[in-house]
Amino acid sequence: MIAWVSELLDWYRQNRRALPWRDAPSPYRVWVSEVMLQQTQVTTVTPYFGRFLKRFPTVGDLARADLQDVLKAWEGLGYYSRARNLHRAATVVVRDLAGDIPGDVDALRRLPGIGRYTAAAIASIAFGQPHPVLDGNVARVCARFWCIARDLRGARVAQDVERRLAVAIADSDDPSSFNQAMMELGALVCRPREPACAECPLRSACAALVAGRTGDLPLRRKRPPVPHHRIAVGIVEHEGRVLIARRGEDQMLGGLWEFPGGKRETGERLEQTVRRELREEVNLDVRIVRRLCTIRHAYSHFRITLTAFLCTPAEAPAAARCDRPMAWVSWERLADYPFPKANHKVLQALDRQRRPLAPREAAAPRSAACSHRGTCPGLATGATPTLWTTAAEPTR
Ligand code: SF4
Repeated sequence: MIAWVSELLDWYRQNRRALPWRDAPSPYRVWVSEVMLQQTQVTTVTPYFGRFLKRFPTVGDLARADLQDVLKAWEGLGYYSRARNLHRAATVVVRDLAGDIPGDVDALRRLPGIGRYTAAAIASIAFGQPHPVLDGNVARVCARFWCIARDLRGARVAQDVERRLAVAIADSDDPSSFNQAMMELGALVCRPREPACAECPLRSACAALVAGRTGDLPLRRKRPPVPHHRIAVGIVEHEGRVLIARRGEDQMLGGLWEFPGGKRETGERLEQTVRRELREEVNLDVRIVRRLCTIRHAYSHFRITLTAFLCTPAEAPAAARCDRPMAWVSWERLADYPFPKANHKVLQALDRQRRPLAPREAAAPRSAACSHRGTCPGLATGATPTLWTTAAEPTR
């Protein structure tokens, strides 16, 4: 075996972290963990992984689950297309492959959400096949170990590195451990800043260490400035229920629920934004009661400052219409719905203010006191008790 590969594997066997997906690494557990670990840190993923596997212990359980339940289990982990694709892929595995997750890289790549990297990770870690994985941690180790002063995101450079890794993994007697060792070395020792070269099993062969270039490799690309958007949302409350709408599946954060609202346009005051957005999104004219809170949130490619306004319908609430599912939900049942993190920050801010909103116990409409009673179609048809739960409320 190549000397540095042997030293790497010895180091890994002695130093690897005890992570839940490393216990009994079945294809399903490896698959779920690799999807969760995309763009997400191990410490963030660990509690999610445990809860997810408890909720959906097998690929069959995941395939049979309602997507809303899957998104709820994923809530807060971000990059929700991962959850939607995982769910879709599970249904394909059960429907077309008799529930067997394939070990072949090409078959894996035909499943929704599984790209080159994830396919190589599953095939190597769960099935012991010699396919190298080139994630961010591994790329950093390689750039330093082979002293590559070029951008590893370039296709030709990446192919060259993969060829070198393919030779190394083929020479190892344990492809699963080889890939995990490279990733672990990048996470624990060959860190982005200040690599711990004195503890590194590769130090005797590391070209960047010899050249004194560990500090400036890998080459870093200058990041463009991150756009900032000003957002206004309406918390439209009527008789103890608030209006929420579900985002379209093809949108960012698709399938999650939110308080309706949107981006401020040039020259608009935030109050104008929230009224315009509610008219456009849910066809509802509202009165603004007051400004509730302002939160900040950063996504991967932009950041937002979001202000929430407490509103009441200025017309019969039944006028609210939307081309996507929406629901009037009691405060207590909001927790049943998967929300994006920014909306959770709003709810936390409201909790800190002790939610000084209208009484929650008013489940029955007080029609006699309502200024819209003369024009309310729900009241005229006697349907007021049923109208608030007709939208797509999750059934549990
Ligand atoms: S010797 Fe240092 S720079 Fe080289 S691979 Fe190890 S930690 Fe990274």
